Amino acid sequence: MKKSFYFSAVIAAFFFIISSAFAQENPKNVIIMIGDGMGLPQLYTGMVANNNYLALERCTYVGFSKTYSANHFTTDSSAGGTAIACGIKTKNGMIGMSPDSIKAESILEILERNQFSTGIVVACDVTHATPASFIAHQINRNMTEEIAADYLKTDIDVFIGGGRICFEKRKDGRNLLKELKNKNYQIAYTLDEVKKIKSGKLAGLLYDQHPPLMPERGNMLADATMAAINILDNNPKGFFLMVEGSQIDWAAHANNTEQVIKEMLDFDQTIDHVLDYAQKEGNTLVIITADHETGGMALLDGEFGSDSLKVEFGTTNHTGVPVPVFAFGPGAEYFTGFMENTIFKSKIEKLLNLP
Ligand code: MG
Ligand code: ZN
Repeated sequence: MKKSFYFSAVIAAFFFIISSAFAQENPKNVIIMIGDGMGLPQLYTGMVANNNYLALERCTYVGFSKTYSANHFTTDSSAGGTAIACGIKTKNGMIGMSPDSIKAESILEILERNQFSTGIVVACDVTHATPASFIAHQINRNMTEEIAADYLKTDIDVFIGGGRICFEKRKDGRNLLKELKNKNYQIAYTLDEVKKIKSGKLAGLLYDQHPPLMPERGNMLADATMAAINILDNNPKGFFLMVEGSQIDWAAHANNTEQVIKEMLDFDQTIDHVLDYAQKEGNTLVIITADHETGGMALLDGEFGSDSLKVEFGTTNHTGVPVPVFAFGPGAEYFTGFMENTIFKSKIEKLLNLP
């Protein structure tokens, strides 16, 4: 009797170990984090200033993404965002559409259709090119009012950023905030209001246009991201969240090294919180990448722990160099090596066992 009990306990322990080894393979949730303009120089600039460390070093799987668009050697954020979100190369300026203007479904829309919870959190206007690529379909990124209206065509659960004007003061006279309320969205205008909401649908439009630069916007990106995760992970089926460190790009366009550092460290702090969550839960794949490099930054000299680096910029625009990809959690091992920026959608679909 005792012996057979011992024997079944050993068998049970054996199967437990085997099944938990395999349970790690497929994620339940996916969080994709995009540093706009975050090439290796922007990343390393932040790392040097932060005394030779960034939280994204916690990711043990690393690769590179080739960023060229359908019509340019050097992509913009709409073609770059569309590649990541929809899995296709398109022309610069286009949002969620193929070069011949055919709508391409984004990974966010596919997962929403498959009963996942979905969200977007950005440090810019929610109608800006990167978030727009996940939810809108327009021939030009400048059609921000049309992009705002596209949010209403989806069932996205949570979106937080700036851009209230595109929803409220529109040429067509529609009040999208009213329409969102009719679709059962809770509307938040401040970060404190966002933090009070624990479930349901949330539209967080915290600024009229873009959120201010760092340090003026404080912990907006990290706090809004964690508030979004707290709501999204109520869904037992799983969730998809896109988070953007939007303003690394703008600092690099301005060839402003100190601001690149501030924006890079803000994004990295957000990454740290997200990786803490993913580590604790064990079921969340986190992918961190960029849409392109900005500024052609060359780091010629520096000192660890100091923000005075010797930097030269090659341009005030984007460059065509590949950008890094970092991954953490179940499925992270599929995001290594040299990749096209169009691979994210299909790999996520496969990892989540979508039909
Ligand atoms: Mg962007
Ligand atoms: Zn840019």
